Amino acid sequence: MRWPGEMGVRKLRSDEEMNNQDARPIRFGHRSGCVRSWRRRPPPLPGLAAALVLLLLPPHARAQEKLRVVTTLTTYAAIAKEVTGDLAEVEAIARGDEDPHFVTPRPSFAAMIRRADLFVASGLDLELWVPTLLDRAGNANVRENAPGYVAAHAGIELRDVPAVVTRAEGDVHIYGNPHIHTDPINAIIIARNIVAGLRRVDEENGATYEANAARFADRLLRRLFGDELVAMVGGDNLFELARTERLWSFLEQNRFRDRPLSEYLGGWIARGASFRNREMACYHKNWEYFSARFRVPCGMYVEPKVGIPPSPGHVRELVSWMRESEIPALFAANYFSRNQIEQVAERTGARAVIVPEHVDGAPGVDSYFALIDLWVTSLAAAYGDAGTGAN
Ligand SMILES: [Zn+2]
Repeated sequence: MRWPGEMGVRKLRSDEEMNNQDARPIRFGHRSGCVRSWRRRPPPLPGLAAALVLLLLPPHARAQEKLRVVTTLTTYAAIAKEVTGDLAEVEAIARGDEDPHFVTPRPSFAAMIRRADLFVASGLDLELWVPTLLDRAGNANVRENAPGYVAAHAGIELRDVPAVVTRAEGDVHIYGNPHIHTDPINAIIIARNIVAGLRRVDEENGATYEANAARFADRLLRRLFGDELVAMVGGDNLFELARTERLWSFLEQNRFRDRPLSEYLGGWIARGASFRNREMACYHKNWEYFSARFRVPCGMYVEPKVGIPPSPGHVRELVSWMRESEIPALFAANYFSRNQIEQVAERTGARAVIVPEHVDGAPGVDSYFALIDLWVTSLAAAYGDAGTGAN
């Protein structure tokens, strides 16, 4: 099942290069200076020349087909759908309940990428299987650095970045933690990266993509912080404060009607009050960005090192820490061994909070909003909250 250790490892481009390619400034409406308008039709040519021109056009332009967007993960597909609306066909390669590190490449996946106008991947070592698929697909338009390639992580400050790139500390995460989508603020940046890619391959609809992404960001910020705080502080300001880790000090230091702004918090952050500043146990380092946003750190992991299965000794150590610290929850993605998670939880009195890591990873989890809602609600229940305070 394990993908051979060194396969698929690529040299990571520097952040500066990545930012130049995909990162967008904070505001929407900024236009890239090097957009190619692939949809512009050439003047009619007779015979063979016309046929050749048609062959050279990207697939969607040939018969006014919809743009084809292929993503590695269902969560990126869900975000891409928010941005494209009905202007594109969007499909994901991995299933939502599958470990994104270990997806077996299939010929049908290469065929999907071969037909794609835009391909969205984390751009880190999360999807170790991507380089092989890109090679087999042979679609020069969506290769790394090509206009149709989107690195979802561009512009996101990575956590757990090791001082030295090595697999000694585990099989995966060698460039930093790649589970970026677990923070809703990052989802907004991912949406902007997808917009930047869409504009490179379909500038004609650029304004629509920008407007859709802005609407997605606004809805997400309201779900995260509540309508009242968004109205008081402004969505753009909240986004920027959160992105730069200045949000909590801002909310505590500023007051409205003699109350600190933190008391006006609503949405998921308010619902997370029961687990805020408390520790949880986790299976894998899936939740680092979620932990930072909601202030609920993973004190220990079932995996002793990322991607490495636990030894009995490590499990004993975890169990005794969870008992001593009275940890209420073991938080795990649903593609790990349910039995193992439930056994550990049983031995400690904690609740096994087993959730999909990605959209479509469980029935009813059909959007990014439903995914975050499920995580927050499930954890709040484990920490003894009735679930009030959300909107
Ligand atoms: Zn991982």
